[in-house]
Amino acid sequence: MYVKLHPELTSDPHAQRAAALTSACVHCGFCLETCPTYLDARDERDSPRGRIYLIKQLLETGDAGSATRTHLDRCLTCRGCETTCPSGVQYGEILDTGRALVENAAPRPLPSRAARWLLRTVFTRNWLLRPALRCAQLLRPLLPGKLRNQVPAWRASGARPKQQHSRKMLMLAGCVQRSATPRTGAAAQRVLDLLGITLFSAPAAGCCGALNYHLAAHADGLDDMRRNIDAWWPHIEQGVEAIVSSASGCGAMLADYGRLLADDPHYAAKAARVSALAQDLALVLSNEDLSALAATKNTGRVAVHTPCTLTHAQQQPALLETLLRRAGITLASTSDSHLCCGSAGTYSLLQPQAAARLREEKLAALTGDQPALIVTANVGCQLHLQAGSAIPVRHWIELLDNG
Ligand code: SF4
Ligand code: SF4
Repeated sequence: MYVKLHPELTSDPHAQRAAALTSACVHCGFCLETCPTYLDARDERDSPRGRIYLIKQLLETGDAGSATRTHLDRCLTCRGCETTCPSGVQYGEILDTGRALVENAAPRPLPSRAARWLLRTVFTRNWLLRPALRCAQLLRPLLPGKLRNQVPAWRASGARPKQQHSRKMLMLAGCVQRSATPRTGAAAQRVLDLLGITLFSAPAAGCCGALNYHLAAHADGLDDMRRNIDAWWPHIEQGVEAIVSSASGCGAMLADYGRLLADDPHYAAKAARVSALAQDLALVLSNEDLSALAATKNTGRVAVHTPCTLTHAQQQPALLETLLRRAGITLASTSDSHLCCGSAGTYSLLQPQAAARLREEKLAALTGDQPALIVTANVGCQLHLQAGSAIPVRHWIELLDNG
């Protein structure tokens, strides 16, 4: 697909890169039947190929209408299309550029801008999110059913390990997970402690940058990344083995630091080092001897939802199930594991109807074998699935934690 950049965009390196990536698409359409939004809407403009055409038009004309913005907004950024594409089209990167360009070409109405600003501001600041969540949790019993399901029930984190080991790994504490499901981070610390590894977080680090970046606030997202690099760098120099993410969406973002900051002369080398050190928690455990965790809880059959950010972005579709089987967990049969649950960062809040339909389909695919529990590897998926499920939904690390 040939793209002739609009004269005003020829000096924009992001537009140049998007044009080059777009030209790899041969519009074969193989990606359509694995795209959740195309399967839901059956509208070509809500498919990967259709969105690539819309971005091509934008790159060639420098202009777009609100319809283009709507169809780009409806994308989950699940990157299932990248896994399917026989031509290796890097759709996620094309979409990020398309979304940034469309913000200027077709400005949003004020309520939409305000909602996105609010999400970016509250969710990335723990000191705002935590008290807001605690208030909602206190009021939870009084809320009507649907609203109550949106608020995660409070659960104690349990004790954090005290002893220090010579093996050390940094933990990305993140933003939403730290406030909404703090037990996940504590469980990860306890499990790694049993394996002789101290897992600790740097207090000045925060959101990985994905929330801002995927809402087209690229400058703020890059600032989040630089702040984290500054917070981690002294520990990296002291030899931490890895930077561990227990939320696969954040892990996918860490893996991209090197590419996204490649043009920053002060941070390019450090960002590449961070990406090289980044590991999902499941990958860390898959490389360890798990015999010290022999006392695994008897949970009954467990259905595993591997998030898109582990399946497609990190290209680890079997990692989690393989690890849990190795740890002695009995897994339930599931289907359509390549399809997104509808959470997709802030998607479930900004596109609630489509997200609820995708959740219904995902829960049907997860519960056909009547599991006692559903586990996943990303806080967004966990909260979104739990809001529609009578079966408990947990982070998988809790299966290995006796704390
Ligand atoms: S599968 Fe790849 S090459 Fe084919 S239409 Fe989709 S993005 Fe383009
Ligand atoms: S990222 Fe997911 S929702 Fe978006 S076009 Fe690709 S498959 Fe469809």
